[in-house]
Parts: sequence; structure tokens; C-alpha cells
Amino acid sequence: MEKIQSDCLIIGGGVAGLAIAQSLVKQYKNVFLIEKNNSLGQEVSSRNSEVIHAGIYYKKNSLKAKLCVEGKHLLYDYLNKNKLPFKKCGKFVVSVNDQETKKLHEIKNNALECGVEDLEFNDSELLKYPFIKFSEALYSPSSGIFDSQAFMMSLKNEFEQNGGLVLLSNVSLKIEKSATGFEVLVKDKNTGEVFIIKTNLLINSSGLNAARIANDYYGEEKFKNKYIKGEYYSYQGKEQLGHLIYPLPTENSLGLHATLDLGKGIRFGPSAYLTNEIHYSLDKNNKDLFLKKIKSYWPSIIKENLLPAYSGIRPILEGQDDFLIDFSENTESLLVNVLGYASPGLTSSLALAKYIKSNISYIGI
Ligand SMILES: Cc1cc2nc3c(=O)[nH]c(=O)nc-3n(C[C@H](O)[C@H](O)[C@H](O)COP(=O)(O)OP(=O)(O)OC[C@H]3O[C@@H](n4cnc5c(N)ncnc54)[C@H](O)[C@@H]3O)c2cc1C
Repeated sequence: MEKIQSDCLIIGGGVAGLAIAQSLVKQYKNVFLIEKNNSLGQEVSSRNSEVIHAGIYYKKNSLKAKLCVEGKHLLYDYLNKNKLPFKKCGKFVVSVNDQETKKLHEIKNNALECGVEDLEFNDSELLKYPFIKFSEALYSPSSGIFDSQAFMMSLKNEFEQNGGLVLLSNVSLKIEKSATGFEVLVKDKNTGEVFIIKTNLLINSSGLNAARIANDYYGEEKFKNKYIKGEYYSYQGKEQLGHLIYPLPTENSLGLHATLDLGKGIRFGPSAYLTNEIHYSLDKNNKDLFLKKIKSYWPSIIKENLLPAYSGIRPILEGQDDFLIDFSENTESLLVNVLGYASPGLTSSLALAKYIKSNISYIGI
């Protein structure tokens, strides 16, 4: 079987793999990225809200809190520098009763502890939307929206311009530890050819498959994944919004919000329910519950104006609501598993890449 040597191999061409690839290609030669689909960023990275999060809700000192706040600044700088489409439109988190208002104040205090200092209770702009019902409104001026596909294509171009190699329709089948590093069995889905890529530095950023791939390597169920699906509906009514409107967060979600695309179209989502399968069709039986959640802050919404749009699946680790970056350390080789990389993973991606790069240099691979 053919064996190819690389200095660094990245499994997965979503936003995490691309950001890591674009960063590591400046330090290592022969960096390869393999992606099982025939184009990049078609899984979790293209099935989300495309919101640049401020870093409001996450537990102080968690990776999510740190990488989101740092990642937001890095992302705005990157989008500006590369002239990619985005809009810092701001967002309102609204409470609808006293109990929620109390929680909203706790959220503001938490955000402050995480370094988000620009939140304020200010509803002046929200009053432009008389159809929104609220008790109090917390305004986040640094939240925004962006074109995540354009961002990923820019990362890919930078990676390739610096000598990196993207192999599409190539799926990793198995990782084996060798005397000097790793041997990854790869199948080219176009030709059916199976070959081995040898490497000392292996990054597993395979999104929904990352926990399974890590467990296969370790030979035990070290990481237990659960999939939380979220559905989106686009809105066909005549009202217009210039800001994002969020209710309070729930256990697995930041809340079923009204978000915007760059063309000012409104869509609602994501819902949050457990699923065992990776499939993206929408279940129309969920629509009434979906509508009920929107009505809590937008009572006049009409069911017929909601059209099924798309869905995404969150890779969450059981018993853990943070990202988990697992470094399997050896003297001369390193496997890095990017686990539980759900929201705010788009926003955090450049900070994630920086975090991994600095840990690798520290370990000395
Ligand atoms: C509903 C929802 C809403 C969200 N909203 C936001 C938001 O508004 N803002 C925000 O910041 N974040 C948001 N997120 C989070 C964000 O989308 C994710 O954190 C991020 O996209 C995950 O990127 P990834 O590269 O880890 O995964 P993916 O994009 O899934 O990439 C992994 C890639 O690995 C490939 N792969 C898998 N197995 C193999 C294999 N064996 N061999 C080769 N390739 C393989 C897959 O095909 C895939 O392309 C949201 C997520 C969801 C689900």
C-alpha cells in the first residue's frame, strides 16, 4: 500500500480544520487537510446562525468564554483585513417576565466577568420594533453576522497559497500508532484507492465524527457524544429587523432567536432536541412548538409566514458544556482532538487555531 509522509495532517475541512490548517501551514512543511465530502464546510459549519457572538453566556474561565471573546476580535480583524462580508449589527437579549429579568441581570454580570464590558440595558433601538414584546432588553453592540462560507474559502486559499494541500473526497478510516508517529488509513472516495498518510502531528477536527474517531484511536469510549439538532425557518412577513433578537438561553441552546442574513432576510432558529442520526430534514411536527417559542417575544407572528429552511446538529459531549481540546502527548508525536466543538465555534475558530498552535509549540513537536 502506498505510504505518503506529511509533517502535519488535519482530518476535517470545516471551520475548525481550516482555521487550524491556515495557522499551522506557516510553521510546518507538507501540511495536508483531508475532507470526506467533495467540498469544504458542508456539515456543522454551514448549518448554523452565522452569528459573531460577543461571549456573554459562557462560564468564566471556560475555553468557550476565552476563545469566544478573543475569537470575536480576531474574526472582525480578519474580515476587515480581507474585505469579507459582515455586519456588526448588534443584538438584544430580551426578558418577558420578572423571573427572566433577574436572569438577564445575572447574564450581564457573567459577561462582565468574562471580559465583555460593552453590554447595557438600553431598549431605545428595540422600540423601533413595536411587534417585539419584552420586559427588559440587554443590548450587545459587538454581536454581528458574517458570511461563513466566504470566511472558510479565504482560509482555504491562504492555506493553499502557503503550500498546504487539500484532499477532497478523502475519508480517514483508521488511525494507528507507529514507532515514530501515526499512520492514518485514508480512502479516496472518487477512485476507491486506499493509502496511508504518515505524520507526527495529527489534528482530528472532524466535527460530528471527532469523538468517535478519538475513541477508535484510544480503543475505549473515552468521550461520549450527544447530537442536539436545531431547525431553522425563514420568515416571509412584512416586518423588518436591523438587530438580532434573542430570548434567554436554554440548556442546549442560546435560545430560538430571530437572526438576519446579510441581505436582511429574517430567519428563526435553532430549536434544540436530541437525535441519534445525522440527517438534516425538518420534522414538520415540531413547527407548533417552534412557533410557541417565537410567540413568547413576537406574539403576532403567523405560522404560515414561517417556511422550512435548514437544520444543523450540535456535537456536544455528555456531561460537559465546554469545548474539549484533547492533547494526546508523546515524546515525538501528538494527536489533538477537537471535541464538543459546538457554538460559538465559528466565532472562536481563529482563537482555537492560536490556542492549539501555542500548545503544540509548548509541547515541542
Ligand atoms: C444549529 C447551530 C447553530 C450554530 N450557530 C453558531 C453561530 O451563530 N455562531 C457561532 O460562532 N457558532 C455557531 N455554531 C457552532 C459552529 O457552527 C460550529 O462550532 C463549527 O461550525 C464546527 O466546525 P467544525 O469544523 O468542528 O465541524 P464541521 O464543520 O462539521 O467540520 C468537520 C468536517 O470533518 C469532515 N469529516 C468528518 N469525518 C471525517 C473523516 N473521517 N475523514 C475526513 N473528513 C471527515 C466533515 O465532512 C466536516 O466537513 C452553531 C452550530 C449549530 C449546530
